Amino acid sequence: MSTCFVDQVATREILLRVTNVCGVCYSDLHEGDPIYYDLQHYRYLCQECYEKLCEKMNEQCEVLEEEGLFG
Ligand SMILES: [Zn+2]
Repeated sequence: MSTCFVDQVATREILLRVTNVCGVCYSDLHEGDPIYYDLQHYRYLCQECYEKLCEKMNEQCEVLEEEGLFG
């Protein structure tokens, strides 16, 4: 899934300048946490949301399960 996400470690810089919450569940991110940048939606995810999303995605980074709900 490395084509869909960039895995990083939350730094003070990211938390201050970009975001300090997960883009999906809005839980707090903390310095040193593993975080995942979603290249499709330009947002950072916490590890839990990243893992959930990965399970639903195909190789094109499309979320199959939710197709049609918003369409
Ligand atoms: Zn989350």
